Amino acid sequence: MSQVIVVGGGLAGNSAAHTVLERGGRVLMVDKMPFLGGNSVKATGGINAAHTRQQRALGIQDSPESFEQDTAKSAGDRCRPELVHTLTHKSAAAVEWLSDKYDLDLNTVGLMAGVAAPRCHRGKERFPGFTITYRLIERLESMAEKEPDRCRIITKSRAVKLVQDEGKVVGITIVGKDGKEFNEYGPVILATGGFGADFSANSLLAQSHPDSAFWPRQRPDILSLPTSNGEHCTGDGLKMASAIGGNLVDMDKVQVHPTGLVFIDKPNEKHLFLATEALRGVGGLLLDKNGDRFVDELQKRDFVTGKMWETNKPPYRLILNSQAAGKIAWHCEHYCGRGVMKKYDSGAELAKDMKVSEKKLKETFERYNKGAEANNDEFKKRFFPSAPFNVHDKFHVSIVTPIVHYCMAGVEVNANAEVKDRSGKVIPGLYAAGEVAGGVHGANRLGGNSLLDCVVFGRVAGDSATRFLLENYTKFGSTSSVSHKFGISVDQDDQNLIINIPLGVAEAKAKAKSLLAKTFNAFVAPRPHSRVAGTSINNLATANMMQSMFMTSMLTN
Ligand SMILES: Cc1cc2nc3c(=O)[nH]c(=O)nc-3n(C[C@H](O)[C@H](O)[C@H](O)COP(=O)(O)OP(=O)(O)OC[C@H]3O[C@@H](n4cnc5c(N)ncnc54)[C@H](O)[C@@H]3O)c2cc1C
Repeated sequence: MSQVIVVGGGLAGNSAAHTVLERGGRVLMVDKMPFLGGNSVKATGGINAAHTRQQRALGIQDSPESFEQDTAKSAGDRCRPELVHTLTHKSAAAVEWLSDKYDLDLNTVGLMAGVAAPRCHRGKERFPGFTITYRLIERLESMAEKEPDRCRIITKSRAVKLVQDEGKVVGITIVGKDGKEFNEYGPVILATGGFGADFSANSLLAQSHPDSAFWPRQRPDILSLPTSNGEHCTGDGLKMASAIGGNLVDMDKVQVHPTGLVFIDKPNEKHLFLATEALRGVGGLLLDKNGDRFVDELQKRDFVTGKMWETNKPPYRLILNSQAAGKIAWHCEHYCGRGVMKKYDSGAELAKDMKVSEKKLKETFERYNKGAEANNDEFKKRFFPSAPFNVHDKFHVSIVTPIVHYCMAGVEVNANAEVKDRSGKVIPGLYAAGEVAGGVHGANRLGGNSLLDCVVFGRVAGDSATRFLLENYTKFGSTSSVSHKFGISVDQDDQNLIINIPLGVAEAKAKAKSLLAKTFNAFVAPRPHSRVAGTSINNLATANMMQSMFMTSMLTN
């Protein structure tokens, strides 16, 4: 049947699926996990956008141009201006779509690192990624329940291969719950997320370029790092696209976050929680195994990670004094409950666990306090929230480690979310959105830009795929005899209206016949290969109108 297939049920996939439905299309969502949501439900920061209604209500001066500049700067030498333009100039519409259509509270607007204005939107609750994605999932599930003809969701089913016909992507092969393979047909939107947990034999992580500037040469083998990503992040979309000639870009650009939270009881666990940057923001100190500081704790993610690799003195601890912990009490309780943070009643107790002397800890704190007081820190830190540190205080402490966090790398797309092949041409019928797509963030993603990427490019992909569906399955001349194609077209030679029906879909065939007869009072006769031929039409404009009307009724019925 005519449908758009969305592979992946995170925020990008859900944004795409809802857009297809808004445009009157049919949608099939496939996800390999038992539940939709992906990494999108893990995001705790928020979603960026410029010149929104929410910003204006708070008196925040901002513009898409300023946002575009910040994003381009962060993307550096890998910036693709047309993608950055789309991301930033469609940002306000994306956030307003979420708040208006899905009744989401995105009225709190905060400042993130590396930007000119507060533009990170979230609500009062603490998990914006979860709240936003879950709302879209709920709506899609309810649509699937109410209108199963228009919207289907299949979980525990893994897409494994793209199906092509004459160079176009016309469907996908899926391994279902029962382990059996089957095909679904229609243009495909890949929304499978990144490859931050791809520890397989043919891992894409292993292929990231070892000499890139982003990876200092002294980095440990990336495959040995833990990850903040869910186990679904194995780069399936990249592998499927690449297998049919899709181009992969910026494969060396994988973001490593410095503060993955090590489980106290399971120090070798691969999938870790991420410490919110706010722990460093409220004044947490980073100490190495000897009890020494080694970096300005408020530096960017890649800088702090680089210093950890350079000094190479793990385990590293993130230490909050009572003042810092008090500012972020909810998170501290949460992390303690999860077994990734420990409370200490004194510096002596902490020093014992660190296997350093209390005197050493005291010296480190005093050096820090002196630098803070004179605003002359040895690591050039400029802000000193929660200083001074006192060894007789109480502490909240986590062991932290660099962690694979986000893939800027991915399938090459253009501003219409169309996937490009290795010679730069568009692969018809194939789209990508969200973390699976590469190039949107260039060399470095700004915090809050990924959820935005999911919504903006998810919507763009939904639009493009629906347009492709209508154009290709209703266009003059698209009379390919491939049996799985569904469409209506005019045979240029004998001016017959031709409808292609998928083989074996008896219901669709009957519907097509009856609609054709009812709507156009046309003569209907069976033709070979499940084709149904209609009457002669001598006016191409009329034929064109009939095509659109027929297609619309087939899509929406
Ligand atoms: C801990 C954490 C915190 C973050 N915080 C923020 C933040 O505050 N702000 C921000 O902007 N970004 C944040 N990010 C990044 C952001 O959450 C993700 O990049 C984004 O949500 C990815 O969305 P997606 O829809 O592309 O993929 P995902 O949400 O990961 O969804 C992909 C889906 O595809 C499915 N799938 C994969 N392969 C297949 C297959 N072969 N067949 C069928 N289904 C498949 C998966 O099961 C999954 O459901 C954070 C990321 C993490 C890990």
